[in-house]
Amino acid sequence: MKTEKKQTKYIFVTGGVASSLGKGIISSSLARLLLARGYSVTIQKFDPYINVDPGTLNPYEHGECYVTEDGAEADLDLGHYERFTNVYTYQVNTVTTGRIYRSVIEKERRGEYLGKTVQVIPHITDEIKRRIMLVGNKGEYDIVITEIGGTVGDIESLPHIEAVRQLRYQLGTDNSLVIHLTLIPYLAASGELKTKPTQHSVKTLLENGVQPDMLVLRTEKDLNEEVRRKVALFCNVEPDAVAQSIDVPTIYEVPLRLLEQNFDTVALRKLNLPAAKSDLKEWTAFVDKVKNPKQEVKIALVGKYTELPDAYKSISESFVHAGAANHAKVKLQYVNSEDITRENTGSLLDGMCGILVAPGFGHRGVEGKILAAEYARTKKIPYFGIGLGMQCAAIEFARNVLGYAKADSTEMEPTTPYPVVAVMEEQKNVTEKGGTMRLGAYPCTLDKKSKAAQIYGTQKISERHRHRYEFNNKYLKAFADAGMTAVGVNPATKLVEVMEIDAHPWFVGVSFHPEYKSTALNPHPLFVSFVKAAIEHCS
Ligand code: GLN
Repeated sequence: MKTEKKQTKYIFVTGGVASSLGKGIISSSLARLLLARGYSVTIQKFDPYINVDPGTLNPYEHGECYVTEDGAEADLDLGHYERFTNVYTYQVNTVTTGRIYRSVIEKERRGEYLGKTVQVIPHITDEIKRRIMLVGNKGEYDIVITEIGGTVGDIESLPHIEAVRQLRYQLGTDNSLVIHLTLIPYLAASGELKTKPTQHSVKTLLENGVQPDMLVLRTEKDLNEEVRRKVALFCNVEPDAVAQSIDVPTIYEVPLRLLEQNFDTVALRKLNLPAAKSDLKEWTAFVDKVKNPKQEVKIALVGKYTELPDAYKSISESFVHAGAANHAKVKLQYVNSEDITRENTGSLLDGMCGILVAPGFGHRGVEGKILAAEYARTKKIPYFGIGLGMQCAAIEFARNVLGYAKADSTEMEPTTPYPVVAVMEEQKNVTEKGGTMRLGAYPCTLDKKSKAAQIYGTQKISERHRHRYEFNNKYLKAFADAGMTAVGVNPATKLVEVMEIDAHPWFVGVSFHPEYKSTALNPHPLFVSFVKAAIEHCS
């Protein structure tokens, strides 16, 4: 029987007042609820900035750079999407204004506009629409949720909102839906909840020709019926289409709070789709574990962006997942690697049940990371090194165990006598072709007897990368002879992916980023095992 191509439905999520209201969490939560009713869903994000991708952004400004299977350097919201949905995202799921303009300008240079004047409307908006439709075109998804970054009313958001206006018209109201997220501030002095900012935000959207179908009101206090009715009335929205998103102890609870308000069934009704029974058993069990840990375990996260926890979002979320799997709450202690000196390593890392040295770029803070690795190795504290964290462990081992004075990564010290971490010859060719980093998923084969193989329960794994430098295979034997072994390598290139110290309870370094693949329902095995080792270390 020939199956008809599905009619993909589109949900647009916009936001007003402040851009950091949690559109990413709301989009992810809605996706989780729709998945629970049997629909296939993906989420896409539009970012209003001119950078072509967030790869070059300072983590202090936008939080971490997330990496997809196919190597897109993306906004950290894509991490939320995957953590909530278990559905991989790809290049098409992340679009910036810079990328839109680049395609349009390239097209113009190729003469494809046939001498016409190229303008924001229709050319930029057409490109935005094309990219929105691209995700749904393959017919893989029943529903595509498109999150429009930024704030409605900002100059830079205008073309996106205009594209949404046009698409709503083209797709029809049965096939598309606009959800608008706003803030209901609470004025403690008068004890009042204020709906005016919401009314104004919706007005701004209306000025741009878009009537939202549903509203999500961010609030610290429970909104009573009267507030909701008032908002519904002033904003031309049905009363049951006004939901609240109240502050909750864990973001993973948001889907459950929205479910209580029939948020998903109202959305489905508006999309003219049936609502099958919702199955959130696994999700609820996970949230229960997050909220009711049986014990706490202190783990140090050593990195240089410690003042902004969003810079390590995927890592901290991986610990929420792995903590739940161990019925424990991981208390992450952010330790700034720039503060670590030989004299204070012990006091800064005192009482830690495990030490994770974070990924990173550039030489700032590296010596502190190396000291943390030495401390973990010599004190036999569970150690997890990710990216630069693995490289620092290798440098430390070279200097202190192999006696290679001044061993280093050529990223930090190009003239080091012992370049134990360097750009490999084969990689240099790649670099010349324009790819400056190893990005996205690569396969890795693990030694049968390794701890990693035991942890993963398989020898064949695939993990996502984002780095330029590699362990220098010239030193493989010297390291192995002294007890630090490369137990995981890329089968084709032989590049080192996983290193372990044999005579240590738990010392694992990985060149890739396991944190990008940890999700609420699929906690990453390395994190789960590391947390377990940390609990054991402290008990
Ligand atoms: N800066 C190092 C490199 O480029 C490590 C990057 C990372 O931590 N992923 O190889």
